[in-house]
Amino acid sequence: MANSAFIAKTTSANHEEFFARRCVWVNGPVIVGAGPSGLAVAAGLKERGVPFIVLERANCIASLWQTRTYDRLKLHLPKQFCQLPNFPMPDDYPEYPSKDQFIGYLESYANHFGIQPQFNESVQSAKYDETCGLWRIKTTSGAPDSSNKREVEYICKWIVVATGENAEKVVPKFFGFHEFGGDIIHACDYKSGEKYRGQRVLVVGCGNSGMEVSLDLCSNDAMPFLVCRSSVHLLPKDVLGKSTFELAISMLRWFPLHVVDKTLLLLAKLILGDTQKYGLKRPEVGPLQLKNTEGKTPVLDLGTFGKIKSGKIKVVPGIKRFSKGRVQLVNGETLEIDSVVLATGYRSNVPSWLKESDFFSKNGFPKAPFPNGWKGNAGLYAAGFTRRGLSGASSDAIKVAEDIGKIWKEETKQSRPPAACHRRCISQF
Ligand SMILES: Cc1cc2nc3c(=O)[nH]c(=O)nc-3n(C[C@H](O)[C@H](O)[C@H](O)COP(=O)(O)OP(=O)(O)OC[C@H]3O[C@@H](n4cnc5c(N)ncnc54)[C@H](O)[C@@H]3O)c2cc1C
Repeated sequence: MANSAFIAKTTSANHEEFFARRCVWVNGPVIVGAGPSGLAVAAGLKERGVPFIVLERANCIASLWQTRTYDRLKLHLPKQFCQLPNFPMPDDYPEYPSKDQFIGYLESYANHFGIQPQFNESVQSAKYDETCGLWRIKTTSGAPDSSNKREVEYICKWIVVATGENAEKVVPKFFGFHEFGGDIIHACDYKSGEKYRGQRVLVVGCGNSGMEVSLDLCSNDAMPFLVCRSSVHLLPKDVLGKSTFELAISMLRWFPLHVVDKTLLLLAKLILGDTQKYGLKRPEVGPLQLKNTEGKTPVLDLGTFGKIKSGKIKVVPGIKRFSKGRVQLVNGETLEIDSVVLATGYRSNVPSWLKESDFFSKNGFPKAPFPNGWKGNAGLYAAGFTRRGLSGASSDAIKVAEDIGKIWKEETKQSRPPAACHRRCISQF
């Protein structure tokens, strides 16, 4: 990596702030986030000889997988759809690797390509400075519990946003929540159902996480109540031994989307039966169309529906309010409960730090839909915001690395100094 630290004199009024912060010129792109997307971009750049740095707020790679997922998690999709570019998953991995296997794979990936992110470095803001035509990225570095935090400013020509679709948990506000008094956690802090043995647990949200947490609670002799406020597409994970996802991809090569949707729903009815009878209402539009238009992922059944049918997991409608040890539902029913697990999803954190509004929309996703949401203006790139999981992240990463690689090659051929105007840029503080 060819970056070097420098401090320049400044005559600006807030020079104290300037001297308190270290300034680093990065000769190449800054990648924000060391999850699968950031690692895949970094690997592509390595292969093209482009220097870069990766900034990661956590103290490890793939922090979502290492610190914010439950113990029993396996990849939801077969391994061939989850591997990153130019490095297949090991042959001896099962079709659906466990979370530990996936983390092991990502660690081998980073080692194989020699990617060494800068950990405990959280990006607070990133702004394109028109005066000097460079990005100015401000970070706070130091472990979260450290009293010795430092501020650093990185200055570079390209920035790759790879902070993920799931950067922050979504915690809805419920009426009377503060009166409840029991244990409340978000699914990102849920590890296993062991500590809930014998408890009546309200699981809020019936996406993939809510369904699997309910199943895990059930396996640990807890009594889950699964809140399904609106509708959900529940699909079998496999059809005659073939993954439903793979089947859908194969069918899309031959048939239009509405035909594939109809086939998937027919198969779901044949294999699972009528989900509506058990409180899981289906959306009006088909599963793939809904995914394309609203980004809502269908839920793959891992055994939860069997437990719902047998009455071990009870599906309940939306929440009206909480009170001490109780929840009142919109249908007027009141349940006594001990704990709550909020499987209420995640959101992108891009709007909180990226000072830009042409490419990213207010919800933290690129405005242009897949496959076009990977390149903005002035050296801005994004990877991993396609709502298509790891295969979407890989597809973005390949394009980002190719594009930067091409520009890098042209610029280094002309052997121009990378930043002729850093002095001026610094004096803008
Ligand atoms: C429970 C669960 C199961 C899933 N299972 C699958 C699956 O089976 N298959 C699939 O394809 N997808 C799955 N996904 C989707 C998942 O989002 C992707 O698998 C993958 O983790 C996305 O990679 P990413 O690098 O884009 O984002 P992330 O993995 O979220 O990585 C982003 C990184 O950026 C860092 N970061 C965020 N903000 C900052 C900041 N300001 N400064 C510095 N660093 C920052 C984060 O700490 C994080 O390490 C699952 C998601 C969840 C929550």
